[in-house]
Amino acid sequence: MITSDDKFNKEEEEGIRYSRSSFSPTIKSQISLIFYQIVWHLEGTIIINFVSSGVKNLLNITPEEIISNPYNLLNYIHPEDQGQVKQIFKNIVELPRTEDFKCRWLRNEDEVIYLDNKIQFLKTDENKIIIEGICQENLVKNLIFLESLEYKILEKLPNFFYLYELQKQEYLYINSSLSQLLGYENLPPLLANITQWTQLIHSEDRDRLTDAYRQCLTLKDQDQVTLEYRLKNAQGQWCWLNSTLKIFTRTSHGSPQQIIATAQDITPYQAIKSRLRRQKGGEKLLNSIATRIHQSLELDAILKISIKEMRQFLHIDRLLIYRFKPDWSGVVTFESVVSPWRSLLGRILLDEEFIAHYLPKYKTGRIHLIPDLENSELSPCHIQWLTELQVKANLVIPIVQGQELWGLLVAQHCRSPRYWEDWEIHCLKHFSLYIGIALEQEQLYRELRLANEELEQLAFVDSLTEVANRRRFDEYLQQEWRRLTRAKQPLSLIVCDVDFFKFYNDTYGHPAGDNCLQQVAQVLQQSVKRPADLVARHGGEEFAIVLPNTDISGAVHIAGEIRSRLRGLKLEHRASLVSDYVTLSFGIATTYPTPQTVVESLLMEADLALYQAKGQGRDRIFVNQ
Ligand code: GH3
Ligand code: MG
Ligand code: MG
Repeated sequence: MITSDDKFNKEEEEGIRYSRSSFSPTIKSQISLIFYQIVWHLEGTIIINFVSSGVKNLLNITPEEIISNPYNLLNYIHPEDQGQVKQIFKNIVELPRTEDFKCRWLRNEDEVIYLDNKIQFLKTDENKIIIEGICQENLVKNLIFLESLEYKILEKLPNFFYLYELQKQEYLYINSSLSQLLGYENLPPLLANITQWTQLIHSEDRDRLTDAYRQCLTLKDQDQVTLEYRLKNAQGQWCWLNSTLKIFTRTSHGSPQQIIATAQDITPYQAIKSRLRRQKGGEKLLNSIATRIHQSLELDAILKISIKEMRQFLHIDRLLIYRFKPDWSGVVTFESVVSPWRSLLGRILLDEEFIAHYLPKYKTGRIHLIPDLENSELSPCHIQWLTELQVKANLVIPIVQGQELWGLLVAQHCRSPRYWEDWEIHCLKHFSLYIGIALEQEQLYRELRLANEELEQLAFVDSLTEVANRRRFDEYLQQEWRRLTRAKQPLSLIVCDVDFFKFYNDTYGHPAGDNCLQQVAQVLQQSVKRPADLVARHGGEEFAIVLPNTDISGAVHIAGEIRSRLRGLKLEHRASLVSDYVTLSFGIATTYPTPQTVVESLLMEADLALYQAKGQGRDRIFVNQ
């Protein structure tokens, strides 16, 4: 039996190097190492050649006790680990090599000690194998550590803290902050199945942790890796942790071995961060709505898209625009609603009670906020009514166009009560403002369109007589010419001119002449019956009448009608050489327009006819056939 202290000293030194760790000297002094040499005679005998004195310190057995009864050795090993140890020794015999393994040892019969073992096959002849081994307590798993000051401090730390073995991908120690942080009462602080804690990490974040460990493989001592991940707490909610990883120990070759990690709960900070992010998103959305309103006049399309975007962005179950009618009843005009909640589109929602009670408030711009219908101060019948609409939380914002209450923007949450946040209200308030602007813009546009139509009308109407002007006459004659060419239908034209009108002006004055022209124009207008007939002032005291789908007899009939109406009016014209009253001369031309003929020819013929009528004595109709 070799018990030379020299040999042990040498090996003990090597052992210490092997077990280099960063724990304080207090802890280190408690580390015990055991060196041993076993001779295994293949016929079955086992002799323990030597065991270092550390065995007493660590396992509370003397080397002598072990050496004198080698077969009892197995009984000191934890029953669950005995099979594994036997198998390792068997493997060593079959294929000699160096082997690392862990096993639990029973001290004083029931106290469990975790040991890291390294055994090595030394030499053999046909009959025996020599095995040498080193045992070292696994610091972080042993009760010695549990009694240390470090452990007590770590357990008191408010931060989540753990040690991780990089190569073996094994968690060595996790402090109890994790269970406190997450509200799990039954996670034993130290010896829980700590590898399972990563299952609490959000699936989207797990790879990030694996990546961080990978980065640690090349990390310098002064550097650190930080990452953020979510852990599920006992209530099933996600807690955000900000974690820092550093190298704790290195192997004798200097490569990272253990990692020390701390993690801090940053959930409140993350909540603020996400709120800021959403606020920013809200500003962006409002901007895009404003741009859309600015660029388009399609109010319906704008509101339809915007209301949907806003509902989706704020995760509201139902967002609607309620439009008042002049009698202050109203209807849901636009809506975006998420399934399975009912659509209220087209519904009239407000009753008389509402109108009497709330309308005056909305008119002054009041916002009505109901975070939780059940606990609101609304009347029971109002609560019942909103409940029928599946509403659990309500937010009503007036929509004002100019100075007038136009409608309401109503956000309804159906799945649960909702405590509207300030920024959400701000967002919806701005949305309602933009709706008001869009409405105003549409109103202005409508007015502008009307004004334009009036202007256009003016451009077609003779300002004195209010019949069509020359421009309108030319356009209309062209248009009807083309149409009747296709339809192969007749087109008649009457031109008529006031007789001796120069004398009229000379006699009664120019303003009276104007008045006379207005009356003549009215006579003409009253004498045509079909919508397609057009009376125009052709110039001066000359008028023209376009009569589509009218043949010569129709045109003569109309001219006759005009003459008799005018005669009936008895407009005095003392200076006329043909009558005591104002008279007209008529020239009529009719044609079937064709692609080969032009409209000017018809005009010319009518003019010629008028010339004939004048020449033959005035106050008559001449037809150019
Ligand atoms: P005739 O029977 O041959 O047509 O004789 P007339 O005097 O009507 O014809 P003439 O062309 O010599 O004179 C037309 C007059 O009509 C001259 C002009 O002063 C007058 N006149 C043209 N436009 C207006 C108008 O807008 N208001 C008034 N008051 N007079 C007009
Ligand atoms: Mg005339
Ligand atoms: Mg004339």
